[in-house]
Amino acid sequence: MSLQAPDLTLPVLEIPCTNCNGEKLVSSSRWQRFWSEVPATANTNVNGEWEAYLEQNPAAREEYDRLCREEPEEFPCPECEGRGSIPTEDGRRLLAFVRKHSQQDA
Ligand SMILES: [Zn+2]
Repeated sequence: MSLQAPDLTLPVLEIPCTNCNGEKLVSSSRWQRFWSEVPATANTNVNGEWEAYLEQNPAAREEYDRLCREEPEEFPCPECEGRGSIPTEDGRRLLAFVRKHSQQDA
C-alpha cells in the first residue's frame, strides 16, 4: 500500500462582497452628490479652475469645507467590514472550527 497525500481541497470559503464589489471601500454618498454637481472643467484644475469654481460658488465652497470636516470620501465597506469578501456557509463553519480549537481553556 502506498502513502497518499491527504486531500486538503477546501470548498469555496468566501465570495466577493457585492456591496463594494470586492474593493473593500465604499464612496460617501454625500461626496458623490457633491462631485456630481461640479462641472468636469472645474474638476480638472489644470489652470486653477477648481479654486475659481469655489470662488464663484460660495455654496459649493461651504459644502466642500463642511464635507472635508465631517466625512471621508471613502470608508471601509460596512457590509464586509473592509475585507472585500463575505464568508460562505462553509467559510463560517471553518471559522467556528478554528475559533473553537484556538481558544485557551477558560
Ligand atoms: Zn464590501
